[in-house]
Formats: sequence, C-alpha cells, structure tokens
Amino acid sequence: MTVRVLHNARLVDGRSVDVHVGDDGLISDVVAAAPKSADLDGSENLNGWLLLPSMAEPHAHLDKALTAEMIPNPKGDLMGAIDAWIDAASAGKITHQGIVERAAAAMEKLMVHGVTAVRTHVNVMASIGAAAVVAVREAADRFDGLLDVQIVALCGSPMTGTEGAPTRAALAEALEVGIDFVGGCPHLDADGPGLIKVAIEAATEAGIGIDLHVDEMLDPSVLTLRDLARQVMDTGFEGLVAASHCVTLGMQTPDVQAAVAAEVAMAGIAVFPLPQTNLFLQGRDNPTATPRGLTAVRALQDAGVLVAAGADNVQDPFNLVGRSDPLETAALMVMAGHQSPEAAYDMVSNNVRRAIGLPEVQITPGYRADLVAIDAPSVRGAIADAPMSRRVFRRGQLVASADQQTIIHRLS
Ligand SMILES: [Zn+2]
Repeated sequence: MTVRVLHNARLVDGRSVDVHVGDDGLISDVVAAAPKSADLDGSENLNGWLLLPSMAEPHAHLDKALTAEMIPNPKGDLMGAIDAWIDAASAGKITHQGIVERAAAAMEKLMVHGVTAVRTHVNVMASIGAAAVVAVREAADRFDGLLDVQIVALCGSPMTGTEGAPTRAALAEALEVGIDFVGGCPHLDADGPGLIKVAIEAATEAGIGIDLHVDEMLDPSVLTLRDLARQVMDTGFEGLVAASHCVTLGMQTPDVQAAVAAEVAMAGIAVFPLPQTNLFLQGRDNPTATPRGLTAVRALQDAGVLVAAGADNVQDPFNLVGRSDPLETAALMVMAGHQSPEAAYDMVSNNVRRAIGLPEVQITPGYRADLVAIDAPSVRGAIADAPMSRRVFRRGQLVASADQQTIIHRLS
C-alpha cells in the first residue's frame, strides 16, 4: 500500500505530527513529526499549520450563486429576492451555461476555503422544471473525486392542492434527473402541513431524505417546524431530515422553544441555522431591537438536537456578500449565535457531516483523511483571522491550496 504523509501538522492539542494516509483515503497512522520531511513521493509539508477536519457546507444555492450584479434586489428582503429571481428568469437572464459556470465557480470558492462536501438546494419550479438541477449536476460532474455534492430539489410554491400540481410535476422530473433530497418552503405554501406531507411522501417513494426551508420569517404565529417533527414521527419516515433556517423558533418564548426543540430531537431532525442570509434578509421592518433572525440555537442544543450551520446564499439577491468560507459562518455563530469557537467549528465541520450522512472525521487511524491545514494558532484564531493560507485534502489527496502574503512596507 502506498502511504502519503502529511508532514509536520499541528493538532489542536499542540502536538506536532505526521499523518499517514493509505491509498484507501483513510488515515493509517498519526505519529510524532519526523525531524524533517522524509521527502517521499506524495508527502506534503504542512510547516506546523493547524490541521483540522475539513469543513462542509450544509446549505448552498449553487444555481443562484454569484448573481448579485446581474439580479439586483432593491427591497432587500426575502420576497424582494424571490420576486427579483422570478423576474430575471422570465426575462431569460438565467441560462443553462450561466448556471453551470457560476455553480462551478462557487464550488471552487468553497474548495479553496477548505470545504470537501456541499449540499446545495436547486430551484425546481413549474416554469423551469428540472432544468437548473440538470445544470448543477453538469457543474458537479467537473468536481468528481474532488468534492462531495448533494442536491436538494427546492420546490417552488405552491406545492399543494390543484395549484401545486405543476410544481409536483417538476419535482417528478427532478427525481428522474437524480436528486438526493426533497425540499420546499412550508411557510410559503397556503397549506404548510400539506407541503410537508407531499415532501415526506415523495421522499419515501424515492427512498431519499428531505431538507426543507422552514419558517424563514419573523412571524411567531407560523411554526411549521412542529408540524414537521410530528409528521416525521407519525409516519415513521426513515430518511435523513433537515430543517434549514427555523427563524420563527427564535421568536417564541423559552417554554415553547424548549417544547418544540424536544419534539425536533425526538424526530431526529437536524437544524441548520444560516446566519449570513438571515441577518441580511430578516428584520428590515423592525428598526427597534432588530431581530437577528437566528433560530433558538441554545434551546435546540439543550434538547439534544444536532445543529450545523451554513452560509446559504452567497453574492446573489438573497445575500449580497459572503466569501464561501465556512469560517465566516463560524464567526457569526460565535458573534450572533453565542457559541464557543470550538462548538462553532464543529457546526461547520463534523456536525454537518453527521447531519448530511457523511462519515465523521477525526485525526485518528481509520477515519477519512478529509482535512484542512490552516496557518493559524488555534481554532479561535482561525475563525477570527480566517487566514487564506490553507491546504485542503480529500481522502488524503491535496485538492486545493491557497497562500496569503502580507507585507508592511516600513518607511526607510
Ligand atoms: Zn436556502
């Protein structure tokens, strides 16, 4: 067996180690760093950089990424973004090739920041059928062996009743093309619980999981998260279930948060707070004590719910900024979500893997060598500075590199 050596990495406990990776992509040994690189073929000198499990993005929109200039959203809120997108689509601005190229560019940006797995939602609507899924699949094929990509069919609204029939037909088309999860927005449908039922039935039939945009609004009277938990339990649905956003849970009293979180935990649903897009889109009509738009992270954690965090939109009408760097999401989970840096890093790394059905990574023999080395003193320092000196490994293979150089030019 050929062994690749990731030489002179620093672990979070301060040890300097050489990480050996077999040709099965698994870590075969972790030993004290040899005095100097053995200079074997395939060895990589990490110069004492901090080595961590690689990052994973649980919630992207690769079909929309990098359209901020092309599709403005003057209102700045969620409905403004949705309307701007629909107008652009009817004006023919969103082409197959455009989606392929932008999705590929967005995947490269994720990779270079240390991401080895991404789950993306992709619009599936009556007007476009599964065309965007076809385009994102084409882009994903370019990253075969470099990046794990999961596709969620983000079904447009309405999805229920007679009016929802064309959307359901588009979902059937997407299932033919090949998707990994059924998605949709129960809070945007006239019949939220009905939408959840449709999603669970379609996913059960296809033998896949579901990932819904849940309660992405501030109105506390809307709480479809509870319906989702109850339907998952009542139907005994066996696939993976994720609830993205869950903003209105954050608007409830602590008692309601705890009660709903207990049901979510019982149903085995993972929750994905998406601080960047929520901070951008939510609360524009609340000038006093403007809500952050984050879910009730603490209540969910206290109830034992698996919480992972994502970026959601990047540089599109739903969020004008975003670097495609999960360390940016982690920083917001520290600042706006009040997590410790270590917990925040888990939320953009192993918690994502556990939630999306990928094996966890530990820097120990037997685990997949999906790793990122960062020129940072600690996890906290990595999140704070987000240095762009990184090496990214998928199954032990170097898949992306970045080097940052900074110079102070002193007066002579
Ligand atoms: Zn989203």
